[in-house]
Amino acid sequence: HLRIGILALQGGVREHARMLEGLEAEVVLVRRPEDLATIDGLVLPGGESSVIDRLTRTFGLREPLRAAIVNGLPVYGTCAGMILLADRVDDAIAGQQTLGGLDVTVRRNAFGRQNESFETDLAVPALGSRPVAATFIRAPEVTEVGPTVEVLAGLDDGRIVAVEQGNLLATSFHPEVSGEDRFHRRLLERAVGR
Ligand code: GLN
Repeated sequence: HLRIGILALQGGVREHARMLEGLEAEVVLVRRPEDLATIDGLVLPGGESSVIDRLTRTFGLREPLRAAIVNGLPVYGTCAGMILLADRVDDAIAGQQTLGGLDVTVRRNAFGRQNESFETDLAVPALGSRPVAATFIRAPEVTEVGPTVEVLAGLDDGRIVAVEQGNLLATSFHPEVSGEDRFHRRLLERAVGR
């Protein structure tokens, strides 16, 4: 069985755990640097990116996480997790840092407030012809992508909401909320091939 970590400092950990268990992965809740040693892949969940950022430093996880990303660990970030993977944040709050690795710029809360959350069917050709049920909850958008970043999906208005670069996969939205498992499957494929 593949061992897949979920960064479990804050945010929507449980839905990812359920999804990964459904795909027969062994889930490791990552809270300490040691937890990173034995995993084949990692999920960075949604939540509040500035809080998760602060907690990675409090728990001594920031540098181990950055090293794991640089060393090629397959990582999938949803929403706040996408922000944590981004090299640049347009509107970071004071002192907010990211782990980085993904050559994109993101803008936080690009779709309005919590009560303006929405679900939409999204075409993601890399995952096949069936659209993805994508749930957006105070989601970021990608405003800039570097030359080696592949855009996996955009909204009708052209806003980029799913990207991939090497070992890193990121979506603005939460597929785990609507039971869409193809992004997690893609992470597992990367983890097997590692
Ligand atoms: N708005 C949050 C942030 O900036 C992300 C929201 C989410 O992860 N659902 O971190």
